[in-house]
Amino acid sequence: MYFSKKAIVPIEEEETDVWTCSNDGCTCWMRDNFSFDTSPSCPFCQSEMVKDTRMLPILTNHNNHKKAST
Ligand SMILES: [Zn+2]
Repeated sequence: MYFSKKAIVPIEEEETDVWTCSNDGCTCWMRDNFSFDTSPSCPFCQSEMVKDTRMLPILTNHNNHKKAST
């Protein structure tokens, strides 16, 4: 049996549309997966949320393994 030096494959990331809270003291943000008609308000501080982009792991459509990573 051979063990090749397999590099750990980094999680692929892509620029993803997100909403971020406009409140400086709040770090809340959410993916723009849900199609909001208007800008959503922050669920924590009710501040206005602004459109932004982040590098996030690519979401795949298959839910074969659910990882309990929390
Ligand atoms: Zn907030």
